[in-house]
Amino acid sequence: MVLAVNIGLEIHCQLTALRSKLFCSCHSDYRGKKPNNNVCPICSGLPGSLPLLNQRAIELAGMVSLALGCTVPDKIRFYRKNYFYPDLPKNFQLSQYNFYGISSIGVDGKLDYTGSKKTFIRRVQLEEDPGRLIYETGTSDTNFYTLIDYNRAGVALIEIVTEPDFTDPRDVRIFLNKISSIIEHLGICDTKLEGSVRCDANVSIEGKKKVEIKNVNSFKEVEKALTYEITRQKTMSIHDIEIKAETRHWDDLRKITKQARTKEEEQDYRYFPEPDIPTIVLGNEFVSSLKVNMPELPEERKVRFVTDYKLSEHVAQVLIDNKEISDFFEVSVKIYSSPKEIANWIVTDLMGFIDDSEQKGSIFSGLKIEAKHVADLARLVDQNIINRSTAKTILKQIIKTGEMPSQLVANINASKIDDAGVIAEAVESIFVREKSAVIDAKTNPNVANFLLGKVMQLTKGKADPKIALNLITTKLTESN
Ligand code: ZN
Ligand code: MN
Repeated sequence: MVLAVNIGLEIHCQLTALRSKLFCSCHSDYRGKKPNNNVCPICSGLPGSLPLLNQRAIELAGMVSLALGCTVPDKIRFYRKNYFYPDLPKNFQLSQYNFYGISSIGVDGKLDYTGSKKTFIRRVQLEEDPGRLIYETGTSDTNFYTLIDYNRAGVALIEIVTEPDFTDPRDVRIFLNKISSIIEHLGICDTKLEGSVRCDANVSIEGKKKVEIKNVNSFKEVEKALTYEITRQKTMSIHDIEIKAETRHWDDLRKITKQARTKEEEQDYRYFPEPDIPTIVLGNEFVSSLKVNMPELPEERKVRFVTDYKLSEHVAQVLIDNKEISDFFEVSVKIYSSPKEIANWIVTDLMGFIDDSEQKGSIFSGLKIEAKHVADLARLVDQNIINRSTAKTILKQIIKTGEMPSQLVANINASKIDDAGVIAEAVESIFVREKSAVIDAKTNPNVANFLLGKVMQLTKGKADPKIALNLITTKLTESN
């Protein structure tokens, strides 16, 4: 039985490019700080404190909205989203809401994420991050108490809300990688930082109740959590068991979702306009000035890679899907201008060594290879100094040791036999051993390569192949 699946996403990205929080001047970088030391009366929600909006946050959120094809309205407002939870010191979160003709910073966007698939973006909104709950034993089940660190409270977030357009968890992962590349290119969020991008997903089948899966840690896990959840709901549906609207957490050790709480409905949040922040009129020039200052987006970069570097669409796509990889490529090309060769090494060989487990941190971490190494390798191949299979072997070594390819080649050559006398002896003995091949070689020139192979074998690959082949062909014509 085929059951229709609908998946929608809510993606929270911290604006790590900002130096201060969304409504106060506390540092936005809370990581590694002593707990509850990065707070002030505003972000800890003391009575009488007044929020002061970070202007740059509006600009960055505006850029994301434009990059996702959203409309940016003339004016925006902040709303109080009321709920009680220990990580929320004010008992409400300052967020945005589409209400009374006023919308959030971005509405009605669209993102193409494969050649043929697209997802509509319902809205992009600015809001504040809550604090962090810390369970010393790792999970909330096994703790007798919960520690709270408010250092993160008030950090600026953008939330991207999609329409429930996805039907396949794999598409969700592709889409999330695309979003990640966009916000990296915009320079607004360092996605490599732990907890800087978090994704909630809601799933329903056959138009039944929606189940929300909260705060899954990596994009790969989102895909797994969704796959699990779809199976669970389908099984329930087939057996006529009611699916409840609820929030579930992903247990990444047991690889299951488990019930966390029944889900609030929108009206339970009692949204109302924040009285301490007036309506913000963005003005006519807001959007046009953002457009002028927009950094290059992945799609534009792809077009440039195809036109300027003559790369294929596919190769360009693989490169731009990750900003670190496309930057690596461009640095290499600056060192040695052979874009196709360099792209080829990155896409077909190097990517195989890159850890895509999406643990946080650079994807090159653990690899000793840098852009200059790939440039050097491409040059050696281009200039026929080494062949491709030698280059592949060298690549493995560079990744481990960080040695320069030309240095490695020089070392190999040092152990090469280029003494024609020694090679001649090897040729001599092969001619004795491979009599029938020698006869064939006189009518079929390809057989000379077979003989060369034998000589290389005999010398354990140390003979200079050029000298050896020369000796072989000379010997063949002599004996004619
Ligand atoms: Zn503060
Ligand atoms: Mn949110």
